[in-house]
Amino acid sequence: MATCNANPVLLSCNITNVATPSSPLYSKTYRDASVIHLPYNISISENTLAVIAGPCSIESEEQIMATAEFVKKSGAAILRGGAFKPRTSPYAFQGMGIAGLQLLRKAGDYYRMPIITEVLDSEDITIVADYADILQVGARNCQNFSLLRKLGKIRKPVLLKRGMMVTIKEFLMAAEYILAEGNENVILCERGIRTFETETRNTLDISAVPVLKQKTHLPVIVDPSHAAGNWKLIHPLALAALAAGADGLMIECHIKPESALCDGEQSLRPDKFALLMNDIRKMNTLLNKKLECI
Ligand code: PEP
Ligand code: MN
Repeated sequence: MATCNANPVLLSCNITNVATPSSPLYSKTYRDASVIHLPYNISISENTLAVIAGPCSIESEEQIMATAEFVKKSGAAILRGGAFKPRTSPYAFQGMGIAGLQLLRKAGDYYRMPIITEVLDSEDITIVADYADILQVGARNCQNFSLLRKLGKIRKPVLLKRGMMVTIKEFLMAAEYILAEGNENVILCERGIRTFETETRNTLDISAVPVLKQKTHLPVIVDPSHAAGNWKLIHPLALAALAAGADGLMIECHIKPESALCDGEQSLRPDKFALLMNDIRKMNTLLNKKLECI
């Protein structure tokens, strides 16, 4: 039988001594509603309504510039685009990497929009933070605690997506990992969870929105695109999210969804996105929030 002279687990373990707060840092007892400040005077908060839009992936300069142009024209405030993509298949398009970050930055600067993109691996945090205004943690990394801790050490806003198999309590505790390291700029994003239902890609957990809003001071946004997996469902789900109290939306859009390298089936074309923004504006007359745009 093998014997163990030293305890390899303890030797390799990097224990972070973060003092336990009397109430979780995400909780409403801890502080008033958070306001996430972004360039161009855009903010994400309970008093504002911020629409994040753009393609699933950055594919070329022409594609990201054309998409930025139409989402901005219709009233989106923040430009999204994936450069490091978490794909189910290792053979699928994995994103343009650093070249994609550069193109997204170029489009954001040109159209005067803050930009958000996913950081897939902790070794990319520095480079992604150099380019992006918000770093996105995708659903698949929601409980990657070492990545979350490292994102807690930077000061740029982090948008944390709910994992497909993550409860609301676990989602909040994942956010706590970032907050506990000192980064207060956290945005939560409900993007659908796995259920027995097969008509949609995931099931948008609409009740998570008011539950989260009751439990945390952090802004809560909704991504109906990844929840539905079908562009025809985005419009009603987006409006439902606002009715439930979401502070913003993340919508996938593409200049030509039929030729998208990723998630074309759930991407809105320019005319459909313009129609959605018109209804968002109408609905916002009831919600009475400040619709963020430049
Ligand atoms: C995305 O926003 O591009 C994405 C991959 O989303 P999710 O992590 O929610 O699947
Ligand atoms: Mn996508």
